[in-house]
Amino acid sequence: MENKFKTPRTTVMEFGGPLGALFLPVLLPCTVLYLLLACRTQDAGVSSLPSPLPSLRELWDLDAFLLVVGWFGLQAALYMLPLGKVTQGLPLRDGSVLSYRVNGLQAFVITCLLLGLGLLGGLRLSPLHDRCVQLAVAATVASFSLSVFLYARSLCVPDSALAPGGNSGNPIYDFFIGHELNPRIGNFDLKYFCELRPGLTGWLVINLAMLLKESELRGGPSLAMILVNVFQLLYVLDALWHEEAVLTTMDIVNDGFGFMLAFGDLTWVPFTYSLQAHFLVGHPQELAGTSAAAIILLNGLGYFIFRRANSQKNIFRRNPKDPKVAGLETIPTATGRQLLVSGWWGLVRHPNYLGDLIMALAWSLPCGVAHVLPYFYIIYFTVLLIHREARDEHQCRRKYGSAWNEYCKRVPYRIFPYLY
Ligand code: NDP
Repeated sequence: MENKFKTPRTTVMEFGGPLGALFLPVLLPCTVLYLLLACRTQDAGVSSLPSPLPSLRELWDLDAFLLVVGWFGLQAALYMLPLGKVTQGLPLRDGSVLSYRVNGLQAFVITCLLLGLGLLGGLRLSPLHDRCVQLAVAATVASFSLSVFLYARSLCVPDSALAPGGNSGNPIYDFFIGHELNPRIGNFDLKYFCELRPGLTGWLVINLAMLLKESELRGGPSLAMILVNVFQLLYVLDALWHEEAVLTTMDIVNDGFGFMLAFGDLTWVPFTYSLQAHFLVGHPQELAGTSAAAIILLNGLGYFIFRRANSQKNIFRRNPKDPKVAGLETIPTATGRQLLVSGWWGLVRHPNYLGDLIMALAWSLPCGVAHVLPYFYIIYFTVLLIHREARDEHQCRRKYGSAWNEYCKRVPYRIFPYLY
């Protein structure tokens, strides 16, 4: 029985294989530190090492570590609350289906209430700005510890529980990419929990801390800071509102849970995605009303494309006969599933990525154009989405064969119409 559902060996390794897997867990934390330190310098330059470099004592602080662990603990406790519905994921290799509690939005609201009460009671969030580097180091240590735990437990689970992409047999690569597909402690799904909650909500808390710090320094938040906070709040709320959609993404369906996702979710997202707000604390920007209006319109356009494209595909995948999508042109595939070839998915092969990238630009523009640092997000995100698109394309071609080739012929551009 076990043999029948055995996860096949991974033969194609991504991210440069074992060498990349050895190198990236060092490079990525160093990049986070470098960006945070550069953000604090006067010129926010990225071409030279930020000076002065902090000593080891300045990087590590037990209180910061306890704060990070306490934050994860709070979010884990909220995840376990019997609030929200329970839904099912896609069938697994052995035909079984896992249940997931969908209460990210409720957890977010309770977190806001707790924070609101804390602020009324005299809690100060602005010190998070001053301790951001120590918090990022603490989150990195927590991510590494979690990854070691995940890899160790993956050695004890049945072969059918392993991730198809993380079963190379090379411990360094499997540790990095994720060996086990859905590690769970009882009903607590570690990957699903980390995917949206501690990191995304943590990102907003850091943004708010930056806004409060700026208010302390200059008597109130700037328009640029307000825009960055509101845009990113909208993005996170959207992700939590559509939390269920995460269950059909590559991260949940294909990728194992290892260092790449653990570090990405728990450290990279909160500390690098909040870089614009962080930058604005030390580098105030005057934003004219007309520029602000243009940036708001740009963000609105990006959000419109992102949301419409994602919703169109989700509705179609759930029920192709739904009146909202029934009139769209499709290509049949040998799997019985169809591919949309008109509507948003007829414009480019990843219209949702296009919308996401337009929003990313709108988040950076309030920071002016004199520094490259606040544009780190859009540069990194473009690379990530181009790489993600290639991974997805590879999987779709394997799944749909000639029907996918036909789709690519009908819709030649991947993300940017007439460009790429
Ligand atoms: P997508 O939502 O783009 O899904 C890709 C899948 O959609 C394919 O594997 C295929 O799966 C299906 N599909 C592709 N083309 C068609 C078509 N023409 N008709 C019908 N179905 C099709 O995957 P992602 O998980 O990459 O992205 C989800 C969202 O998350 C995006 O908006 C992305 O921008 C965002 N994102 C944000 C990140 C961040 O850090 N901010 C990081 C990563 C993603 P199947 O046929 O099996 O249904």
